[in-house]
Amino acid sequence: MNFPRRLDCGSRRACALAALVVLGLLAVGAAPASKTKTAPSPLTWKAGVASVLVTPTNLLWMAGYAARKKPAEGKVQELFAKALALQDEQGQKLVIVTMDLIGVGQPLHHRLAERVQRELGLPPQFLLLNASHTHSGPALRTTPVTAKDLENERTRSAYAYTQQLESNLFQVISEALARLEPARLTWHRAQCGFAMNRRLPSPTGYRNSPNPDGPVDHEVPVLRVEVAGGVLRALLFGYACHNTCLGFYNYCGDYAGYAQEYVQANRTNCIALFLQGCAADQNPYPRGTGVVPGLTDLDLARQHGRTLANAVEMANLTPQREVHGPLRAAYEEVALDYAKPRPAHPYPVQVIQFGPDLTLVALGSEVVVDYSLRLKKELAGQAAVWIVGYANDYSGYIPSLRVLKEGGYEAQAGWADTVEERIVGKVHELYGRLR
Ligand SMILES: [Zn+2]
Repeated sequence: MNFPRRLDCGSRRACALAALVVLGLLAVGAAPASKTKTAPSPLTWKAGVASVLVTPTNLLWMAGYAARKKPAEGKVQELFAKALALQDEQGQKLVIVTMDLIGVGQPLHHRLAERVQRELGLPPQFLLLNASHTHSGPALRTTPVTAKDLENERTRSAYAYTQQLESNLFQVISEALARLEPARLTWHRAQCGFAMNRRLPSPTGYRNSPNPDGPVDHEVPVLRVEVAGGVLRALLFGYACHNTCLGFYNYCGDYAGYAQEYVQANRTNCIALFLQGCAADQNPYPRGTGVVPGLTDLDLARQHGRTLANAVEMANLTPQREVHGPLRAAYEEVALDYAKPRPAHPYPVQVIQFGPDLTLVALGSEVVVDYSLRLKKELAGQAAVWIVGYANDYSGYIPSLRVLKEGGYEAQAGWADTVEERIVGKVHELYGRLR
């Protein structure tokens, strides 16, 4: 593997109507503030955004639930991969890729990052790959296959899809970089409440069930990208919640797919991109067909999507913070030990610094919310802090020490009790290096 291990800087209609009324009231409430708004600052950034369809053209086995008994039967929503390319005043570029898919396999990340560096000149620490963790997308095969593997139709089709996906990802990154135009970036945030902790203590241990007392991170961070004339070109937003409203046999982006669709609706040439947060122990509730009388799981996915889209709209109404460069980034793979003796896992940690204004931390795999809450507290300072999970790797659950000790579903990957300190320590090390 030539990949460098260390890289330094260089509803329902009534519901929808009610939501619109609420937004209208908020817009009215926000109006006086806009009178005192100063003139927009100069377009010191360059930005480009692109989107590519990644819905499988055939009916593949789906990802996310081990209990699935058959391949997909259709689709209710298209799946996309999207890229946001940014360039600061010094010419440093960054590309953030989001996908309506289950996860970013580490081998895929390594291959793509190598190709992007070789052919587009972008160093790997300036490339961030994130998956929404929808459980209504295709299963991927990111590791190499043997001739024997390919005798299995399920493996063969997953592998063929993943090969095509890699080519699509390279294409969408190239397109975003080719579209760079003068831009300004602003940071906003809001709150959204449907994510609930899903680790409920019981006499027999932690059950996968809603726990209203468990930790959550309800922040909805938003990065707005405006181009000449105040035209909104992209809205990058995040949330920490499993994308698991749905358990059917249709391709769909789940709540995050709907949130992106609703944010984009009625906005010409604007692309909405979703970054999944530290969602390992967070589920969307209510959840499941019939849990709310008369509503299917798809109804709830759309409702939660609308709720998150509304939070993005509300974030747009909050005071904006101008985001400046320069861009700096660091990426390393820290050795995560298992409790049993076996080779450690090279776990990816990435820190991206937007001048004095925003620190973006991207952690691999399914990270529990404790990481987000702890890091936001420990990195709190002048810059806003955005913690992303499901980035650059997809190797199972990453518990905090608390969750590891408590046990339960998210604690079973077999990590040693050094897991949290290794990851958090690496974040601080990279963060310190960039400052
Ligand atoms: Zn998961």
